[in-house]
Amino acid sequence: MKKYDYILVGSGLFAGVFAWYAKQHHKTCLVLEKRDHIGGNLYCEDIAGIHVHKYGAHIFHTSNKRVWDFVNSLAEFNRYTNSPMAYYKGEMYNMPFNMNTFHKLWGVCTPKEAMEKIQEQRAGIQGEPRNLEEQAISLVGRDIYERLIKGYTEKQWGRDCKDLPSFIIRRLPVRYIYDNNYFNDRYQGIPIGGYNVLIDQLFQGCEIRTKTDFLDNREYYVSLGEKIVYTGTIDGYFHYQFGNLEYRSLRFETELLDEPNYQGNAVVNYTEREIPYTRIIEHKHFEFGTQEKTVITREYPEEWKPGMEPYYPVNDEKNAELYAKYAKLAQKESNVIFGGRLAEYKYYDMDKVIESAMVCAEAEFAEEG
Ligand code: FAD
Ligand code: UDP
Repeated sequence: MKKYDYILVGSGLFAGVFAWYAKQHHKTCLVLEKRDHIGGNLYCEDIAGIHVHKYGAHIFHTSNKRVWDFVNSLAEFNRYTNSPMAYYKGEMYNMPFNMNTFHKLWGVCTPKEAMEKIQEQRAGIQGEPRNLEEQAISLVGRDIYERLIKGYTEKQWGRDCKDLPSFIIRRLPVRYIYDNNYFNDRYQGIPIGGYNVLIDQLFQGCEIRTKTDFLDNREYYVSLGEKIVYTGTIDGYFHYQFGNLEYRSLRFETELLDEPNYQGNAVVNYTEREIPYTRIIEHKHFEFGTQEKTVITREYPEEWKPGMEPYYPVNDEKNAELYAKYAKLAQKESNVIFGGRLAEYKYYDMDKVIESAMVCAEAEFAEEG
């Protein structure tokens, strides 16, 4: 008999959802987290009464009713709707690309006029777009590509738009209505009281050890549990034997300001190449805060190097091939469940991670009913 039913490596959403199911089935879990807090990238730090999204702005959105009901059973969500603004050379534009953006840019008033303008500007692109630049021009025309996409994207990904896959830009809606909602999903919001409320609910009843890296002492931790749920990097688990998977990293610069309202919106994107950060987040606006002070964070994309925080997987061919090799090894590890954005090397939104953890936990506990 081992001491715990499960050893959960990492304390992000994947591990949290698994822990919640484990508790329903009266299983014991030990959570190992190498950071000094739980919650993975959802973690919020309290500064002057404001919940600061320490690892980048997180807005919950989903069309999956089961996922929405699940998170709402654990925390109440507010009605926040993400409507970022884009700043380019002293002008403000509405995001995502919609009639407000087209009107501001070209003075057009109707969808028909906007479509004609875009049609005119995409004339040069023939056939299937072969890269992000062609995809962007074909979706929204050259003016928007040059002002709102090119600079931001090249800062974010550290490479030319011609060398990036087109799917990255297809995440963004293009709408011929006056609607600044960044997401198309049916449900959206931020947990009232911040994400830590949700996280604490998910891990309730678990034994938690922070500042603990599973890989530093793996034989010992394996000896403690019947099974491992591993949500760290998959290449790290296998000692980087085929080489490192690549990521894009980020650096956050956070400031507490002695004023109540710095930019009038939670998210402002800076789309000029010359400004080194991609966006400024003003955290209080996620929860309609009325504090006297405000906290802002500038987000600088960075080239990732081993040892740095891995944020975005680089889903190009080279990394996909490398990941496939590690995934093959993972299949042979019978006592380990690999899940989440680092172990699956996937650009996962929160709702998708929850969904995937639900499926995994339901399969795991299926026999017990
Ligand atoms: P993580 O949250 O990364 O959790 C993994 C945990 O494991 C980490 O805490 C890590 O420290 C720990 N760990 C790793 N290795 C070890 C080890 N060896 N030992 C112990 N602990 C270890 N999604 C949305 O839906 N909406 C958004 O607006 C949104 N914004 C985002 C903004 C940014 C900048 C980023 C990077 C992501 C964003 N996401 C967003 C995605 C969201 O963060 C992820 O879907 C979610 O956090 C994934 O959860 P996870 O459990 O897979 O991973
Ligand atoms: N993007 C852009 N201009 C913007 C916002 C986004 O060109 O003002 C592009 C950029 O390439 C980015 C992609 O759209 O990587 C997807 O944007 P999203 O906000 O979904 O990125 P996330 O930060 O969630 O990965």
